[in-house]
Amino acid sequence: MGSCRFLCLIAACVPLAELWVHPHMFSSLRSIRLDTHDSVALFASNNERNIKKTHIVIVGGGWAGLSVADSLSHDENVEITLLDAGPAVGGLAGGGALSPRLQLSVEPGLHGFWREYRNTIATLERIGVMPGALTEFTPSILVSQHGRVALAPVLANETLNNKLTAGSPIPRVEEALSKLLPPPLDVALLSEFSSKRLSTADRISALGLVSAWADFEPENRESWLRYDNISAEALFRSAGVTPALYDELVAPLLHVLPMTTGYDCSAAAALSCFHVFALQSKGAFDVRWCTGSIGQTIFQPWIEQMTARRNVKILSGQRVTNITAQSIGSFEVSVQGDNEHYSCDAVVMAVGGTALKRLALNCPLLQVSESRYWNESLRGVTCVAVRLFFDRNSPKPWLRPMKDSPVVVCGPNILPELVETGFCIYDLNRLQPDVFSNVTALEVDFFRADGIANMESDDDVADLALKAVATALRLPSIAQDRNLWLEVHVIRARNAVSHFCLNSAKTSPGVRVCKGVYFCGDWIDRTGHSSWSTEKAVVTGRQAALSIAKDFNLQRCDTGIIPAPPEAPPLMALRKLARLRKNATPTPIPFF
Ligand SMILES: Cc1cc2nc3c(=O)[nH]c(=O)nc-3n(C[C@H](O)[C@H](O)[C@H](O)COP(=O)(O)OP(=O)(O)OC[C@H]3O[C@@H](n4cnc5c(N)ncnc54)[C@H](O)[C@@H]3O)c2cc1C
Repeated sequence: MGSCRFLCLIAACVPLAELWVHPHMFSSLRSIRLDTHDSVALFASNNERNIKKTHIVIVGGGWAGLSVADSLSHDENVEITLLDAGPAVGGLAGGGALSPRLQLSVEPGLHGFWREYRNTIATLERIGVMPGALTEFTPSILVSQHGRVALAPVLANETLNNKLTAGSPIPRVEEALSKLLPPPLDVALLSEFSSKRLSTADRISALGLVSAWADFEPENRESWLRYDNISAEALFRSAGVTPALYDELVAPLLHVLPMTTGYDCSAAAALSCFHVFALQSKGAFDVRWCTGSIGQTIFQPWIEQMTARRNVKILSGQRVTNITAQSIGSFEVSVQGDNEHYSCDAVVMAVGGTALKRLALNCPLLQVSESRYWNESLRGVTCVAVRLFFDRNSPKPWLRPMKDSPVVVCGPNILPELVETGFCIYDLNRLQPDVFSNVTALEVDFFRADGIANMESDDDVADLALKAVATALRLPSIAQDRNLWLEVHVIRARNAVSHFCLNSAKTSPGVRVCKGVYFCGDWIDRTGHSSWSTEKAVVTGRQAALSIAKDFNLQRCDTGIIPAPPEAPPLMALRKLARLRKNATPTPIPFF
């Protein structure tokens, strides 16, 4: 302990050491001491007032961790050290890496920004990267094992005449209808379904789910727990959804939204996911994409702003191995190698569920009441992102089948190797034209892809990706000759994405463990905010910051959280009916 205090003192004195102090502090710095809780207190001589900064260590630098840093660092009495294990900060959204050969942008999969990502978009606006960071809203083509099923149009876009949606699918009458139809009828009636795949009867069978949708309350933990031990497949089938609707529409969406298969997805997660991504408000399914890599386009300017102008130090390559309470109100964060320690007043764990599960094994401070379920129910879905670069003049056979959209969402079973694997195809030249002006670039992201992640050769993975694209788009073949490939880049993200399997809601802790220890990320309990994925990471990051601000009486943090959209009138009416039904009949959930 003694040597650790000494290290802290040195660190506070030496600007090159790990504890970063805002440059202007040095001009007026006269004395440094350790206070009773081992935290570093700095004294500025100009007003001889004791300004003890609250030192927060954030573990994990994805959307969640960066959001905590952003919120808290508006208060100049807060000092933040963000530690990330990866070679660059960014987490699953990527650190702005470049491919080794062509030095072109690569990232662990493309990430959509849905219309109701209110807190995420507000963050982008505050960083100052909007509107350029995101494309216009973009339709998506949906493909099942039997071929094209539907085109999800942009439902609430005021500027339909942008280049991505040009010539796209909403004729005038439907455009007028889209203004009149309340959600969720707009998605159901305006999506362009292939009549070969889905009959009217199939589409009507979705109505069977309405009572479950109305009964389920996505921000209510008790509601999550009620639907958590039933599989999505069991719920959908027992609600009368026809096999065709399940196979053609539900299964593909489950494979790309919660990224798993129906029997291995909790009904609560499926209902919540469909509500948030498609049904909750007009145009909820409308999605935009980053115009470059998230790392370069969003995170780099964000990080620069925080580290240059506020008391934030961000360190990559720092794998945290333990967190211990030192004395009341003081914590020590240990990092792998070098016997490195950080003393602080509070720790925020923004590491993702599976990483937290591993850390908690040896760290009693992180063992919360939910952690007794972590062993069996806290899992990750493996994703594999494949980026292929070809000569800029090489043929692009995917252009014709993808004329309605640069994004194709594909369900499982499209190839024998992909029985439980869904994937998305992205025409990067149309989504990120400025980034890929000199090459032809195609991305295929596989979800629930352990088998693919285990393939040793990147070229074999690329072969499979091209076979999958050709089969999904009904093309004879695409660029099978490996001499046509300029570069292939494969990112294997093993057990990376939160897996909402059966009973997973029980594993989701709240944001605050105790004063000084906080959790955030896309797998945290949804009570109070029903968002998903990136938006959930941002929201819980801001919720953790709010909790810290309250606990430490920090007045100047920016902790505003935009709530999820209010219930649309039809849903409000249905919910009232569902509550009446629940009061009248004791069945825990409809159909069971
Ligand atoms: C292929 C793919 C496609 C996706 N598509 C979408 C999409 O279209 N839209 C969407 O909204 N979301 C999408 N997601 C999900 C989205 O990426 C996540 O929801 C979001 O990035 C989670 O952010 P986070 O900050 O909670 O966690 P993460 O991004 O996982 O960040 C956690 C960080 O913690 C660090 N860490 C872990 N252990 C330690 C340790 N011991 N010490 C220090 N640091 C540690 C990691 O290095 C990582 O940087 C996708 C994900 C993938 C993989």
